Amino acid sequence: RIHNALEDLKGSIRVFCRIRPINKREKDLQDVDVTEIVDSMTVNTQKPSAGTIANEPEQFNFDAVFKPGTQAEVFDTCKDLVQSALDGYNVAMFAYGQTGAGKTFTMYGGAGDNAGTAPLTISELYRLIKQDEDRVQFTIMASMMELYRNELVDLLVPKSGGASPKRKSQNPGSAALEQKLNVRVDKSGAVQIEHLREEECKTAEALSDLLERGNQMRTVCATKMNSESSRSHLILIIRVVGVNKQTEQKLSGKILLCDLAGSERLKKSDVSGDAQKEAIEINKSLTALGDVMESLVKGAAHVPYKNHKLTQVMSDALGGTSKTLMFVNCSPASSNYEETVMTLKFATRAK
Ligand code: ADP
Ligand code: MG
Repeated sequence: RIHNALEDLKGSIRVFCRIRPINKREKDLQDVDVTEIVDSMTVNTQKPSAGTIANEPEQFNFDAVFKPGTQAEVFDTCKDLVQSALDGYNVAMFAYGQTGAGKTFTMYGGAGDNAGTAPLTISELYRLIKQDEDRVQFTIMASMMELYRNELVDLLVPKSGGASPKRKSQNPGSAALEQKLNVRVDKSGAVQIEHLREEECKTAEALSDLLERGNQMRTVCATKMNSESSRSHLILIIRVVGVNKQTEQKLSGKILLCDLAGSERLKKSDVSGDAQKEAIEINKSLTALGDVMESLVKGAAHVPYKNHKLTQVMSDALGGTSKTLMFVNCSPASSNYEETVMTLKFATRAK
């Protein structure tokens, strides 16, 4: 029995590796591709060598490897998770990797055929709801926030001026808009984020619009704080409640989508206060996430969710009965070799 439980758990955590194409700037800089696909689950990386003696390649295994794969191809391997949320499961899909490796492309993407996981999840969600509308009454609620330097920021609440969204407003009417978002975990393990705005989205268009607003707000916040938006974790939570019209049986699930902050190590030149504080906090949060994933895969009795706000927020969508998909985004370029290997090694902790 224990064996079966572990088997189930393993099946509920998937790790996909995705390698973006080499770009023009890299080609111009004489970068070469240091990654090689061995098969649909295996990738090799080879340390660039200056001399004639080639370095031994290092091999990494995943549940799937895409190089680079189309958005549709990638989504095909994870869209069953949308049905799982309608069936009452909690689902997390998130992207890990250095800045420029393709996290945002994978999670959000661009127009048309470039639409990524979030917009494709939205289409699939409302398609499935429509398909079942005679039988089940579904309600979709969504919220969007970012986690920047250990502070959660609501991306659906307008910020009332000032240099920082944390600054107390002069206007008493808007003070309520800037409540601190504390994370609470109830006895059943469900995560509640106090004061986080949640909006009902009756249509796919309404939810897409919410995403658009959240992304715009994120850019505004990053500019105000003189930072890059890639230095914060972007979290979208879609809650799904279905009530069976005949039996009145109720099922609640959720989909948590996260575009994580860049995993790259601090550059030696970036020793100034703010960049350093950002980097230290990002490192802490990603280490906490790696520790949680590793404990889950090992079936450890204690999962260290409490080590960071990031893992607290994600806790009811990681482990337990939930289903998790981690995208590991890598650059193929020789100039990124060190970071790529760090990224692949991080990911193998979750295997
Ligand atoms: P990150 O969010 O990890 O910083 P981005 O998603 O912004 O990285 O990707 C960096 C650049 O590479 C973008 O211009 C993006 O369009 C491109 N890119 C990333 N992944 C792919 C891919 N799979 N196919 C084509 N272009 C990609
Ligand atoms: Mg990005």
